[in-house]
Amino acid sequence: MAAMRFDVPHLDDLDLAGKRVLVRVDFNVPQDEAGHITDDTRIRASLETIEAILAKQGRPVLMSHLGRPEGKVLESLRLKPVAERLEQLTKKKVVGLDESIGPAVEKAVQAAPAGAIVLLENVRFHKGETKGDVELAKSYAKLGDVFVNDAFGTSHRAESSVSVVAQFLPSAAGRLLEREVAAFRKVLENPARPLVAILGGAKVSDKLPVVANLIPVCDAILIGGGMAYTFLKALGHEVGGSKLQADQLEAVKQTMAAAEKRGCRILLPSDHVVADALAETAKPSTVTEIPAGKLALDIGPETRRRYAVEIAKAKTVVWNGPMGVFEWESFRAGTAAVAKAVAEAAAYTVVGGGDSVAAVELLGVASRIKHISTGGGASLELLGGKALPGIEALLRPRVAKA
Ligand code: AMP
Repeated sequence: MAAMRFDVPHLDDLDLAGKRVLVRVDFNVPQDEAGHITDDTRIRASLETIEAILAKQGRPVLMSHLGRPEGKVLESLRLKPVAERLEQLTKKKVVGLDESIGPAVEKAVQAAPAGAIVLLENVRFHKGETKGDVELAKSYAKLGDVFVNDAFGTSHRAESSVSVVAQFLPSAAGRLLEREVAAFRKVLENPARPLVAILGGAKVSDKLPVVANLIPVCDAILIGGGMAYTFLKALGHEVGGSKLQADQLEAVKQTMAAAEKRGCRILLPSDHVVADALAETAKPSTVTEIPAGKLALDIGPETRRRYAVEIAKAKTVVWNGPMGVFEWESFRAGTAAVAKAVAEAAAYTVVGGGDSVAAVELLGVASRIKHISTGGGASLELLGGKALPGIEALLRPRVAKA
């Protein structure tokens, strides 16, 4: 793994005094039908960066996407409610604009009083944003003297306001991005050993690149969730009607062979909570071999104990993906047991991925996890060994002036 990839420039490397600091944040918050923000975690996650910029006499100009307007201006996806919430949280003046580029926006940015925060309009109102349009990125670059990326959750996308704009301005990582990068670096580069990865979730095809990338660094990989049954099938077990991706069987066999060669233990469920149907009301029962006609929807008690023993021995733990259909109470115990074991581990613990984060929150152990990632897709790509455009862009030399 190329160590350089994580050596991102930091906020403190930039001279911010009196400068317009263009910041890509991820304020893609959930809203109810009336437009009220139902969870402001993503806004809070970037407060440290915003406050650091203000403390250094910088003039923050924030940009974000909200939802998927697909290049159209949608009233329901304006950032006005976000501007209001940001004002409440920071107790600073927030100048919310109704555009994100152009002469009027440039003027408004210049006119914003010192100590105020400017929030541009939803960048995805522009068609070119998700396509990484270079001209659009240049228009954003006119609004800042320097650029800061704090949108970890969007950094796996090569979008104009995430990665392309970094070509045109001196750039650095914000505090949130810096924290995320440091956490994954601690897992992927010289981790405290044993390093144990726990992988779950529905589709083995999504997670197999992560398994492959983690084999050289992990001491053990514990597998659960729907993805486990393609592994068990590859070993010749009956999996009944459980989730199976038959086209992945060969790749799974190769992955297991690679793990054996590298001395990385892959642990699979040895007992299962099964049901007759994929339904919340389906009656659960525990088996060691899955009968034909039954579906496995959670790992069984013996597997929970085996996994908890591995987690307790670990010095570094990374977890992505639930062990079963944790949304339904009858099939939650496996994910709950893993969440408890991770929370209790005397280890550096990282949890990433929307569902596993939801699980640790649901089970009330979030505060006992060392690092909870704010980016599901981005964290999965990092664990899969992929370069993230939003991070790579900070490492490249500037190519042109806007
Ligand atoms: P992912 O988005 O790939 O991390 O998958 C998360 C989803 O996988 C959750 O909605 C779980 O309900 C689902 N899941 C976990 N275990 C199973 C299973 N054994 N069978 C079917 N779905 C599962």
